Amino acid sequence: MVAISAPTGAVSYRLARERVVSDVHAGRRTRAEVCDAQPELRRVVEHGATPTVDSCPICDDADLVLATFAFGPGLPSGGRAVMTDDDARRLRRRHRVTVCYVVEVCPDCWWNHLRESFTFGERPSGA
Ligand SMILES: [Zn+2]
Repeated sequence: MVAISAPTGAVSYRLARERVVSDVHAGRRTRAEVCDAQPELRRVVEHGATPTVDSCPICDDADLVLATFAFGPGLPSGGRAVMTDDDARRLRRRHRVTVCYVVEVCPDCWWNHLRESFTFGERPSGA
């Protein structure tokens, strides 16, 4: 369980998510379009995701898990997965602007959607 907390100012993507889910239920999008977790995301889900008690909005068969990725200067362009408390502590110590994206994923059907994002660290001077 990763204890990287979202400070105030986190951005929620709930409305966009609800739109996608209702599109699937109305037949405007297929499950294949939205249950397309990429290999890196699946790896994080298998090794370092945070469980939730929210059931999957698509298959309703499994509880969602949360995968967190950090982006910023000095981090890989594809982001760094935050899989352990140590990972979270290391990021907090960076003192550089870091943006975290939290993705909800269904480990059963591979539904995935951005849940929230938040930023921490110092802003570069002059920005
Ligand atoms: Zn599912």
